[in-house]
Amino acid sequence: METPKNPTERWVDCPQCAQPSLYAPTNLYRPFCSERCRQIDLGAWASESHRVPDESPPDDIEGLDRPA
Ligand SMILES: [Zn+2]
Repeated sequence: METPKNPTERWVDCPQCAQPSLYAPTNLYRPFCSERCRQIDLGAWASESHRVPDESPPDDIEGLDRPA
């Protein structure tokens, strides 16, 4: 039988990659295992659930110095 290092440690499955993820304040990306997984999930959620109205054209980038 395995002996846990710390009784207060709690591990969960990362919602993105299903890898063990430490669910603790030390894990800034909880319940995700890493920043990458967190970004992927947030990106998917944002694109699926939050359709942002086209208020500004995406190629209208000003203040960008382009070398000629
Ligand atoms: Zn992950």
